[in-house]
Amino acid sequence: MSAKASRTQVMRLVNKLGGSLDELGANNFCIDAPPGMVWSCDDLHALVVSWHQGDGFAPEAWGDALRRLKYGIEPCPFKNCDVCEENCRLGGS
Ligand SMILES: [Zn+2]
Repeated sequence: MSAKASRTQVMRLVNKLGGSLDELGANNFCIDAPPGMVWSCDDLHALVVSWHQGDGFAPEAWGDALRRLKYGIEPCPFKNCDVCEENCRLGGS
């Protein structure tokens, strides 16, 4: 049994944590953690949300994403991380 959620629910949590959601295609999304942070669930800077079987499967895809996002964020644990270096180059404040 898998939990279901809406894109709105996921966005609410993503916004609260300071992340951002990129729409790569109709059934394909990428959720970025804030710069320098990773999603605690699997130490990744970006979580992919995608499904292939039509819109009826979207609630389960978002539900799965929400379940993983609920673990929150933590500082990137990787030394010489390409993603973080890229952020430094682009962001540079
Ligand atoms: Zn990193």
